[in-house]
Amino acid sequence: MIPTKKLSIGLITATVIAACGSGNSPVPTPQDQQAETVQKSTMKNDLLQEWTGPYGGVPAFDEMKLEDLQPAMETAMASHLQEVLMISANPAPPTFENTVLAMQKSGEELDRVFTYYGIWSSNMSSPEFREIQQRLAPKISEYSSKISQNKELFERVKSVYENSLKNPLSPQKQRAVQLMYEDFAMEGADLNEADKARYAEINKELSRLYTRFSNNVLAEEENYVVYLEEDELSGLPESYVKAAAKAAADRGEEGKYAVLNTRSSMDPFLTYSDERELRKQVWKNYYSRGDNDDEYDNKEIIEEILKLRDERVELLGYDNYAQWRLQNRMAKTPERAMELMEAVWPAALARVEEEVADMQALAKAEGKDIVIAPWDYRYYAEKVRQQKYDLESDEVKQYLQLNKLTEALLYTADRIFNYKFTPVPEGTVPVYHEDVKVWEVTDKDSGKHIGLWYLDPYARKGKRSGAWASQYRSHTEMDEKEETVLASNNSNFIKPAPGEPVLISWDDATTFFHEFGHALHFFASEVKYPILNSGVRDYTEFQSQLLERWLSTDEVINRFLVHHETGEPIPQELVAKIKKASTFNQGFATTEFLASALMDMKLHTTDPEEIDMDTFEKETLDELNMPSQIVMRHRTPHFGHVFSGEGYATGYYGYLWADVLTSDAAEAFREAPGGFYDKTVAEKLVKYLFAPRNAMDPAEAYRLFRGRDATIDALMRDRGFPVPSENQQ
Ligand SMILES: [Zn+2]
Repeated sequence: MIPTKKLSIGLITATVIAACGSGNSPVPTPQDQQAETVQKSTMKNDLLQEWTGPYGGVPAFDEMKLEDLQPAMETAMASHLQEVLMISANPAPPTFENTVLAMQKSGEELDRVFTYYGIWSSNMSSPEFREIQQRLAPKISEYSSKISQNKELFERVKSVYENSLKNPLSPQKQRAVQLMYEDFAMEGADLNEADKARYAEINKELSRLYTRFSNNVLAEEENYVVYLEEDELSGLPESYVKAAAKAAADRGEEGKYAVLNTRSSMDPFLTYSDERELRKQVWKNYYSRGDNDDEYDNKEIIEEILKLRDERVELLGYDNYAQWRLQNRMAKTPERAMELMEAVWPAALARVEEEVADMQALAKAEGKDIVIAPWDYRYYAEKVRQQKYDLESDEVKQYLQLNKLTEALLYTADRIFNYKFTPVPEGTVPVYHEDVKVWEVTDKDSGKHIGLWYLDPYARKGKRSGAWASQYRSHTEMDEKEETVLASNNSNFIKPAPGEPVLISWDDATTFFHEFGHALHFFASEVKYPILNSGVRDYTEFQSQLLERWLSTDEVINRFLVHHETGEPIPQELVAKIKKASTFNQGFATTEFLASALMDMKLHTTDPEEIDMDTFEKETLDELNMPSQIVMRHRTPHFGHVFSGEGYATGYYGYLWADVLTSDAAEAFREAPGGFYDKTVAEKLVKYLFAPRNAMDPAEAYRLFRGRDATIDALMRDRGFPVPSENQQ
C-alpha cells in the first residue's frame, strides 16, 4: 500500500505508518483499468491548501472530499517534480544548501495530500477510493522513479557527499547527506544508461509479480471456506460460533458456520475445536495457500521474483539480494543476521521437544491414542496452558478497561518522557470522524508545545484491521523553523453502548502500548531534516516493543488495572500467573517464526538458478531439523512479507533483532535502582534511543545507552531458554 511506506529518497515523510505485522494491508488490485474521469477543476482544492489554525496548522480533516483527491495528487506530484527539476538544473555548484536541504524542503504540498490519502486508505476506505488508488498507483510509481533516476540530481548529491568526506559537515547534515546518497545509489542512480533501462524494466516486472503473488494469496483465502454443521462446533467459544454463523450467512449459507481461510479464523479454530479431522482440514487449507498446483500457485512466481531481484542487485555489484538490502540495516550483513538466528534456533528446538512431550502425555491421559501432529499443536498447547497456569483470559479482561489503559499510556509518557497530555477543547481541531479524540502534548516542566496526539480507537466499516501508528507531520528544524509533530494511534476495539466500558484482552493491551511507543518515538524526535526521521527496519520496532514492558509494571498495574465494577486492582496472584505464563509455548512461537526468517534469508543468499521451489523449502527445513509437529509461520508460497513487495524481504529476522534489543534494554531498567521508572535510565533512553531517530547509527546510539552492545542473554531469559554464557561458567 503506497502511503504506508516511505517513498525513495526520503521524500514523503508525513505518511509513514509503522508496520507492526498486525492487520492485513490492503493490496491494490490492478484489474480495474477503466478510463480516467478526472475533473480538471480550476476551483480551489482543499486538499492542497496550507494547514491553518492552531498548533502550527492542522489538517482540514473536516473538509475532505474524495473527488478532490486525484486532481490534488496529480497537481502536487507535478509541482514537486518541477521543484526537483529546478534543483537538479541549478547552474551553481552543488552545496548542502542548494541540493540536500533544497530537496528536503521540497514536496510540502504532496506531503499534505498524502496525509489525506493515508486517511482514506487506512481509516475510511471505500470502493470509490480503491478505484482512485488503482488509477494513481502507476502514476505514483512513475513520479517516484523520475526522482530516483534523475542523473543530474544524483551527481549533485554525490558531489556534496564526496566533499563532505573531505570536509565534514555538522553531524546531522553529514548523516542527511549520507542517507540521501545511499538511497540514490541503492536505487541504481549511478548506473550507465543501458543498465538503468534494464533496472527500470526489472522493477516494473517485479511490481507486476508482487501484485500477482498477493492476488493469488487473496484468492486462496477466499476460495477455501470450511462450513460446519450444528453438531461440529464442540469446543469453540461462543463468540467464535457467533462470528462463524454470520460469516456463513454473509456467504449465503444460512444456518451453517464458516471457518474462513485466514489467520484470525484458523488460529482460534485450531486452538479450540475438538474435531480433529476438521482441524486437519482447516490446517491444510491454510498452509497450502499458493501451493495447490493450480492457477493460483505461487511457486513459479517466486522463482521469477528471486531471479529478477538477483539480476537487479548484480547490476549494482552485489553478490546477492540480502547483501544489498542489509547494508543500511542495523545488522549490516546477512551473516550477522544468520548468526543471531542460529544462536537461538537450537534452544527453540529443544523447547519444542519438551512442549510436545507435555502435550503427548496429556493426550494419553485423556485416553487419546494419537501422535501430536501440526493440527494438534495449538489445541493441546491450550489444554496444557489451562492445566499449568490456570489462567482464564476472560478473568483478566475484567481489569483491562480501554479508558483506564489510555490513562496508563499518558502516565507512562509523563514518568518516562516528561510529557503532559491535555485534551484539546472540542471543536478546535478538525477530525474525520466523531470518535477521534485529540490531545495536546507539552513538556511538563517548560510547557513547550510538542505536538498533537490523535486517537482513533474503534472499528468501523472502511477501516483497515489491526492497530497502527502514523504521523501527519514529523518534527524538523530547517532554517530554525521548528515543525511540531502530529501523530496518531489507531485500533479496532468494538465501540461500546453509551456508559459501558470497553474490556480488552491482555494481548490487545500490549499492542495498545506498543503502538503508543511508535507515537512517542515520533514525538521525541529532535532531528533537523525529514530524512533523519526515516526508520531502520530492524531497529524501528524496538522502541515500540520496549514500551510494551510498562504495562506490567507495578505502578501501572496498581493504578490502572482495576476491576470495571468494583474498582479493585487486579489481584497479585492473577498478575503472577500472567507473568509466569509469558514463557509458555515459546518453543512453538520461536520455531515457527525462525523457520520463516531463516527461509527468507536462505532464499536470498542462494543462487536463484539452484532454487527449485518444488523441493527447496522441504530440503532447507530438513537441513535445519525442523520439528515435524510445526510448520513455518508463513510458508514460502504465501509469505506476503517477502513476496507481495520488498518491505520485509530479507527483513523478517528484524522482529527478532528488535526483540534482542528490547530484552537487553529492559534489563537496563530492571537493574537500575528506580526500576522501570529510574530517572537516569529514562533520560538516557529518550536521549539516545528515541530523540535521534535515524540521525545516528543505531548501533552507536545503543552503545551510548547501554555502555555496550546488546547480547542475546536477556532475550533467552525472557523466553525461558537456557542462556549460552551462563552454561559456560
Ligand atoms: Zn510496531
